[in-house]
Amino acid sequence: MIQIRGLTKRYGEVLAVDDLSFDVEPGKVTGFLGPNGAGKSTTMRMVLGLDRPSAGQALVNGRPFASYAEPLREVGALLDPGSVHPGRTGRNHLRVAARTNGLPERRVEEVIEQVGLGSAARRRIKGYSLGMRQRLGIAAALLADPRVLLFDEPINGLDLDGVRWIRELLRRLADEGRTVLVSSHLMSEMQQTADRLVVIGRGRLIADATTEDLLAGL
Ligand code: ADP
Ligand code: ADP
Repeated sequence: MIQIRGLTKRYGEVLAVDDLSFDVEPGKVTGFLGPNGAGKSTTMRMVLGLDRPSAGQALVNGRPFASYAEPLREVGALLDPGSVHPGRTGRNHLRVAARTNGLPERRVEEVIEQVGLGSAARRRIKGYSLGMRQRLGIAAALLADPRVLLFDEPINGLDLDGVRWIRELLRRLADEGRTVLVSSHLMSEMQQTADRLVVIGRGRLIADATTEDLLAGL
């Protein structure tokens, strides 16, 4: 479970996240909806302990995260697919992540299978489409079999099959009792994917309701 309490982040003059409070409960897909620049990534980075709040806190299972290495075990995340080594193959990228985090080699083959990376796992990441990068990022997030998962704009760059696949994956992860937070700037996607919607704009909370209630109120 994730608890966000008065979470605030300033970058100089910019108030990227402004006194945000909400919960992300296990067993549901929670959609994190807002236009580009609303503060979704910044919020997720603070949940992961990659960015320090200016005020307030983000708790995961009752406590803040202190480091980057720790989250992979308890929390898996797909962030901006930028931090991969483009010269590595997909499989090698996952092997390094598994080794660094003390996970068994067999997990690499399991997640490759799970995300449908297929023969692309043997190719260098620099030749990947955005959709393949997303699948690789999701594979890395799933590697340690974490109970809490954050996906930042996972639908970006995916074709229709990919979108359907993501939806089914998110559903399965939630049904397994995991805590799932998924961001998007597309209401049309989130209303089909999420059980609950947290909507933000300019860093502030706009709505926090079940998808059904939110759509009924529109
Ligand atoms: P979203 O993920 O919803 O698109 P972001 O969290 O990326 O939004 O950005 C929220 C705001 O914070 C934007 O105005 C963005 O320009 C600003 N911002 C994000 N990261 C930084 C940074 N490292 N330095 C300065 N401003 C930033
Ligand atoms: P390094 O910083 O040396 O790459 P890390 O253990 O931080 O070592 O990360 C190894 C790989 O695992 C990196 O490629 C990184 O993108 C990925 N990784 C690390 N933490 C996470 C996480 N919480 N969720 C998903 N991938 C992660």
